[in-house]
Amino acid sequence: MPELPEVETIRRTLVKHVKDLKIEEITLIWPAAVVGWEDKTFEGLVTGRRIQTIERRGKYLLIMLDEDLTLIAHMRMTGRLNYFAEKKEPEKHTHVVFRLEHGELHFSDTRKFGRIQAIPTPLCICKSSLQKLGPEPLGEGFTPAVLKERFGKKKVFLKAALLDQTVLAGMGNIYVDESLFLAGLSPDRRVDTLSEEEIVKLHHAIQKVLQAGIDARGTSFRDYRDANGEKGLFEQALQVYGRGGRSCKVCGQTLERIRLAGRTTVFCSRCQR
Ligand SMILES: [Zn+2]
Repeated sequence: MPELPEVETIRRTLVKHVKDLKIEEITLIWPAAVVGWEDKTFEGLVTGRRIQTIERRGKYLLIMLDEDLTLIAHMRMTGRLNYFAEKKEPEKHTHVVFRLEHGELHFSDTRKFGRIQAIPTPLCICKSSLQKLGPEPLGEGFTPAVLKERFGKKKVFLKAALLDQTVLAGMGNIYVDESLFLAGLSPDRRVDTLSEEEIVKLHHAIQKVLQAGIDARGTSFRDYRDANGEKGLFEQALQVYGRGGRSCKVCGQTLERIRLAGRTTVFCSRCQR
């Protein structure tokens, strides 16, 4: 599933192509990819509007259109938004085609979990899935004190707390495992046992890992590609994710692979306490 660094990379690659372009026509090949409106209403609402910019909140992309309409795109497992400079035949899993003044934007998804929602911009935050999201981990206001406050009095495992989008927006399995490794914290530590010093380490690790992910243009473990169809390079930098049973790059001990918070979790029991 694309996480914050992948969605941010899609945003950056996409906005360069589509900013200020008008949406001239929409084709809903698999209408269920669009939620909240009847097909014809959606087409009528969106056609003729200009894309002002693209923002990101957590793992959601916000395609801001003129006249106060926003398209919220959630890629879920395998969703993709690709820009093509020339007219292109939809592929097997292309569900929505936006024909723009110049080029086309294709929303495709092999697993069909990804969704696009059109919502009036003023309601964007309060009437959508964005409402309950926790803070942006790379946002200016995110400090160790905020992280501590978000954990509150929870008695859950670190792994579960960091996957919880209402605690912190944007992290998934890859970047949670990587952040915990860098912070030297075991994923099965309960959040209420962390010292001040450990919170500071974790805060630093989260920001460092997410920024490194963005700098490498994301991790292409399975289907992820940016808006130009290119893979990210962060896979080479992974310390633990996807490396269960192999040796720790720091101490050489075999990495553990366990099931935690419903997800495969890889960690080093020597480096992480
Ligand atoms: Zn180790």
